[in-house]
Amino acid sequence: ILITLEGPDGAGKTSVLKNILPELEKMNQEVVATREPGGVRIAEEIRQIILSPENREIDSKTELMLFAAARRLHMQEKMLPALREGKLVIVDRFIDSSVAYQGYGRDLGVEVVHWLNEFATDGLKPDLTLYFDIDTDIALARIMKNRSEEVNRLDLERAEMHRKVRQGYLEIVAKEPERFVKIDASQSLEKVTVDALMAIKERFNS
Ligand code: C5P
Ligand code: MG
Repeated sequence: ILITLEGPDGAGKTSVLKNILPELEKMNQEVVATREPGGVRIAEEIRQIILSPENREIDSKTELMLFAAARRLHMQEKMLPALREGKLVIVDRFIDSSVAYQGYGRDLGVEVVHWLNEFATDGLKPDLTLYFDIDTDIALARIMKNRSEEVNRLDLERAEMHRKVRQGYLEIVAKEPERFVKIDASQSLEKVTVDALMAIKERFNS
């Protein structure tokens, strides 16, 4: 089973994943928790390249292709082997991040991103995607408070891009309602954790 976590920066995906992991493990499943971009050595190196402040000049199309390359490496080396062994794979960001960030946020359009996602993943689709929804201003305020090292980068990207990302996510979710469960990520971390666990348990009734 493949579960992906999606949402804007500051929605709390990473913290929620940390919280639900022990609970999922109790549900007897063998769980592999991982993240994108990264998850395996070369993909983590690509992550460094993309996210490094001195590489800000990387243009949107190049960035899209780097994310796609990292995605394929990670999928082939880590996700597919675990899925073949019947494990529960849960990943912090996957194909929908590229659609939201590069397709909508960077204005590359959804069609090219869908195509490249398909090419990179050979069509692998999550069984369930938890979408952590949060108002852009609340999300940005959280980031300013908690992750000062990221603020420079986010300042540069400006709130406008983040608004487009969130709007993009809402459109993605509306187009594929069966795959997504939308979670209100403006709630307390405890409540968001409970909602996320409930959504997983409901879907796989275990
Ligand atoms: O998920 P995480 O916060 O670790 O992502 C790292 C950064 O990469 C975020 O700031 C996010 O905005 C950015 N990102 C992106 N395009 C993607 C995926 C992530 O710009 N497709
Ligand atoms: Mg995160």
